[in-house]
Amino acid sequence: MAFSHRSLAPNGVRGDEHSDAHPCVMFERPRMILISNALVFTGQGMKQRDVLIDGETVTEVGSVSAPSGASVIDATGMVLGPGLVDLHVHFREPGQEWKENIESGSRAAAVGGFTAVVMMPNTIPAIDSEEIAREMIAVGRASGRLDLAVAGAITAGRRGDSLSEIVGLHRAGVRMFSDDGGCVADRTLLGKAMSLVARLPGAFIAEHAEDVSLTVGGHMHEGAVSAGHGIAGLPARAEVDVVSRDIDLARETGARLHIQHLSASGSVDLVRDAKFEGLPVTAEVTPHHLALTDQALSTLDPNLKMYPPLREASDQLALTEALISGVIDIVATDHAPHAVEDKAVPFEDAPRGVIGLETAMPLVLEALGGDVATMFERMSVTPARLAAFGRQGRPVAPGEPANLVLFDPEGRFTPGEFESKSSNSPFLGQSLQGRVVMTIYEGGIQDEGTMR
Ligand SMILES: [Zn+2]
Repeated sequence: MAFSHRSLAPNGVRGDEHSDAHPCVMFERPRMILISNALVFTGQGMKQRDVLIDGETVTEVGSVSAPSGASVIDATGMVLGPGLVDLHVHFREPGQEWKENIESGSRAAAVGGFTAVVMMPNTIPAIDSEEIAREMIAVGRASGRLDLAVAGAITAGRRGDSLSEIVGLHRAGVRMFSDDGGCVADRTLLGKAMSLVARLPGAFIAEHAEDVSLTVGGHMHEGAVSAGHGIAGLPARAEVDVVSRDIDLARETGARLHIQHLSASGSVDLVRDAKFEGLPVTAEVTPHHLALTDQALSTLDPNLKMYPPLREASDQLALTEALISGVIDIVATDHAPHAVEDKAVPFEDAPRGVIGLETAMPLVLEALGGDVATMFERMSVTPARLAAFGRQGRPVAPGEPANLVLFDPEGRFTPGEFESKSSNSPFLGQSLQGRVVMTIYEGGIQDEGTMR
C-alpha cells in the first residue's frame, strides 16, 4: 500500500446527541485524503469506488482523480465502510485505571476500527449521577479519538436497592441505562426504572441478564465440560429467566429494552418472539460467544473466563444464525480489561471478563462467512442508531461524516501487543484474518495498522 504519513492532527469531537451540552474542541483541519479503488459500503450495496475526504466530510464517491495536495491511499483489495460502533466497553475510569482508562481504551478502539463506544457505568464510583456522567463525557471528548458516550447505572451505586439519578443522567446526555456487571434483581424496582425511562426521549434499559441466585459459586457454563472439571456451573437458565422477566416488563411499561451479551439459545428464542410481538426489544452478542464454545476450556485458561460464559455448540449456532437474520441486532465486545496479575491465578479465582476491541472485526467477519455488508450493519449502522450517535454508522456517500474504517479482508495478524493496557484476550497469539488498516475519525487518521 502506497502510503506514508502519520502526522494528521487528531480532530475534535463533533456534536452528536451526547455532546450537545459541551463546547467542541477543534484541532487543525486535516488534509484531503483520496482512498482509491476500495470496495465501499455505499448504502446501496458494496461497490468498487474512490472516496475523497475533505476535512471532516466525505465529498466525492465514484471515479475520482486526486486533487493537488491530497494524500492518496491505494486501497485495492480493501474494504471501506463506516467506523465500528461498540455499545459495550469497560474503560475502568474512574477507579481502576491500571487496567484501562479512557485514553488507552480509546486507542484500543481505534486499532480495532471503532469510531464510537458506550462506556459501561460499573466504575468506582459507579456512573450513577449527573455530575460524574458529565465528568466522564468530558474526559472522553478530550481524548479526541472517538465519540464516547457513557451508560448510566439504573440503581444508585449499582447496589440494586434504589434508583440512580436517572433524570439527571439523561440531562447529561446518557441514553443507555444498565447495572452491567450485575443484574437488577428486584423486579419492582426495575419496573419503576423502566416506567421512568419510557418517558425520557431516546432512553433505554440495557440488561446484564443474570439471576445471581443461580450463578453464585459458578465459574463456567453448566454442562458436560464443567462436570468434567468438577467446577460449579452457570446454568443457561440464569440468563433465560431474566430475559423472560424483562421482556414482560418491556410489555408492561413500554420501555425500550436491550439485552446485553446474549449467550444462550433459549434467550435467542425469547428475543425472536418479542420482536414478532412487536415489542421494542433489541439484543447484542459478543465476538467471543460467536467464536468459541465451552470446549475451549480444556486448559482452564483464565482468559476464557467471562460472564455470561462460553456455552455449547448449539448455543453458538443459534447466536450466529440470529445475528445473520437480525434477531440479534448488533455485536458488542464487552471489552473488559483485567491486569495480568488479576488473571494469573487459578480459573476459579480469576475475575470475569476478556478484552475484545482489537480482535472483534475479524471474529465477526468469520462468523458471518465474510459478509462485509452485514458486518457493517451489525457493528456500525444499527448500534449507531440504537445509541443515537448521529455522525456514526452512515453510508459512505457525499456529505456524510468521515468516520470510517479501512480494512484488508485477506490480511492476517496475530494479536500479541495490545493498545489496551490489559492483554486478557482468548485470542492472544492466534492468527486472525481481517486486518484493520486504518481508522478515520472526523477526517483524522487514528491508526494505520502499524500500532500493533
Ligand atoms: Zn455484563
